[in-house]
Amino acid sequence: MKQSDTLPGERLERTAILAWLREDDPTRLEDLWSAADETRRRHVGDEVHLRGLIEISNHCVRACGYCGLRAGNREIERYRMSADEILACAHNAKAWGWGTVVMQSGEDYGLQTAWIAGVVRRIKAETGLAVTLSFGERPEADLAAWREAGADRYLLRFETSDDELYRLIHPDLPGRSSDRLAILRSLQRLGYEAGSGVMVGIPGQTYASVADDIDLFRSMDLDMIGIGPYIAHPETPLGDHSWAREISPDEQIPSDELTVYKAVALTRLVCPESNIPSTTALATINKEEGREMGLMRGANIVMPNLTPPEYRVKYEIYPDKACVNETAEMCRGCLQGRVEAIGRVIGAGPGGRRRVAGS
Ligand code: SAH
Repeated sequence: MKQSDTLPGERLERTAILAWLREDDPTRLEDLWSAADETRRRHVGDEVHLRGLIEISNHCVRACGYCGLRAGNREIERYRMSADEILACAHNAKAWGWGTVVMQSGEDYGLQTAWIAGVVRRIKAETGLAVTLSFGERPEADLAAWREAGADRYLLRFETSDDELYRLIHPDLPGRSSDRLAILRSLQRLGYEAGSGVMVGIPGQTYASVADDIDLFRSMDLDMIGIGPYIAHPETPLGDHSWAREISPDEQIPSDELTVYKAVALTRLVCPESNIPSTTALATINKEEGREMGLMRGANIVMPNLTPPEYRVKYEIYPDKACVNETAEMCRGCLQGRVEAIGRVIGAGPGGRRRVAGS
């Protein structure tokens, strides 16, 4: 009996997760999709929560081997939004009934700790929205200051649980080591709802390591788990093929949409209560229906882009990002239609993590 003969359910062991990642029989995969969709419906319901993304700066000091914002990329024009520009985006989110804004940037120390705290205070005071931050690996004192200012959540993907691959794709800053799992634990201690996630299909990433990632999610008590395909960016070491980690081709996990759907569905099964976005990267590799397919195979969150068009084209973490030439207003109408077309409803309120009563 193949391990994927194990019925897809919430008690999947790591070996069964691995077998499901390798499963390619369409009929059997239908069982996986319907199990994930049913678990999603039972635990987090039919509401799709919208979290408006504001990409506030594309400056970055890091050298992450996959990301177009890396410091070494001289081909992008750098920007930082002003506090008033950010507030205008948050007011749009509020006016449209969205519950949360997510501010994201490269790791940019030009965004000073106190300045960010001030922006968080203003968003909370003027809109009352839930505020999520995603500014990379800032020092614990910064994270504490922003929590104090009222930030509710922080997103920091650990990208891969394979230590060796992690070190290869995250060359450290001198004198500093990068340990995102430790930072995630600090965030939880500070009272943030912590979100994390991984890319699927990084060159040198094995099926086995993605099975480990999914197994790890189960033990981490995460508010949000974002899973997207790795997309090659030509201005990066991983994307221009100058980089390779020697693994056998049979071990390399693909970065195609089918594999991402499998990872999303399996994550829903092992973390039934988590918020799982249907990611922009997924919508990028299948612009027609990637978003919807993610939502039908375990996801319950979408992060529409609120960034003003003149900036969003410059926030090029990977090329040809979905919706890059649209305005926030266009994204709003388009998403509403897509969500309703698959029989789901846009959620009201902040859409925080559901917790089992008493926990
Ligand atoms: N500086 C922040 C935000 C980074 S961008 C941080 O480090 O957390 C947000 C996410 O985009 C990253 O966590 C990564 O998973 C994803 N990403 C970056 N480059 C990518 C690429 N080439 N393909 C797919 N996803 C990518």
